[in-house]
Amino acid sequence: MVGPSWGWAVPADNWVIRTSSLTKRYGDIVAVDGLTLEVPRGHVFGLLGPNGSGKTTTMSMLLGLVRPTSGSFSLFGSATQHREALRRVGAIIESPSLYPYLSGRQNLRYFQGISGRGTPGEVDDLLSRVGLADRGNDRFQTYSLGMKQRLGLAYALLGDPELLFLDEPTNGMDPAGMAEVRDLIRSLGTGKRTVLLSSHLLHEVEQVCDSVAILSKGALIVQGVVTDLIQPRKRVRLRTTDNTRALEILSALDWVEEAEVEGAAVVVAAPSERSPELTAALSRSDVYITEMTADQVSLESYFLEVTGNDEGETE
Ligand code: ATP
Repeated sequence: MVGPSWGWAVPADNWVIRTSSLTKRYGDIVAVDGLTLEVPRGHVFGLLGPNGSGKTTTMSMLLGLVRPTSGSFSLFGSATQHREALRRVGAIIESPSLYPYLSGRQNLRYFQGISGRGTPGEVDDLLSRVGLADRGNDRFQTYSLGMKQRLGLAYALLGDPELLFLDEPTNGMDPAGMAEVRDLIRSLGTGKRTVLLSSHLLHEVEQVCDSVAILSKGALIVQGVVTDLIQPRKRVRLRTTDNTRALEILSALDWVEEAEVEGAAVVVAAPSERSPELTAALSRSDVYITEMTADQVSLESYFLEVTGNDEGETE
């Protein structure tokens, strides 16, 4: 497991969710395995992993729906009681089960009333916020999947929660519905609101999330800022007049993280600002670069590499 790799120092009071060795077992199945997570305030944070990697179980524990076998967690700091914290949380776990014969507006009014979250006056604003102002009087059963999910988001937003849990919010949608919901989520994770989103779609996490924790078989593989996880792994692909010699020279440089021959090229992982030094080191030994191309590692290939499976589908 690799520890947190944040690109900046986040003050201790800026974490919204912290877990420590959080574990859930069902008999022999370890659904969540010693998970230590840190979710900073104001981020859209992705829990990324293939099916069965423990995303829903993690969210369910944080929401108090499932009791952890061991480990601990806190929401909004260790001084905040869980019951108090949940008043500041909105969630969609599984598809929202709203009433098919009621309109979108009636559904929201009903659930606002029974949950006591927010006020009746918020309902129309929320319908506009999720782009359903014109369809608020239509029955829920006439909605597309994207519209249903957006209405679910409106429900989760009642009372203007500081923290939103969204479990696979675009699951089963067509590309247009996915795009609508992703834009909406992106717009929600700003300011002080934090969004914890689970997804098995790498592409979605790259588009929507500021930071990510990658899970595999219940365990944390890595967590960090999405761009940090990609950037430091920038590699360059060199064709040179003598690849064998180039490999020897580059491998001896202490700031070169990795160098290997791949086909007709030498692939080098090194900080991009060192490129001039790299060129100079080779030319001093009469090895010359004939071609140099950037070989940026996508989160997808990173995901496949670290989880060692091939379920990293994109849509
Ligand atoms: P998915 O997207 O498929 O729901 P996930 O990453 O959310 O995947 P979980 O639903 O948390 O994963 O499941 C993690 C593991 O725990 C799986 O092996 C699952 O079968 C198992 N599991 C989850 N809930 C239970 C339960 N109530 N009883 C027994 N096993 C369970």
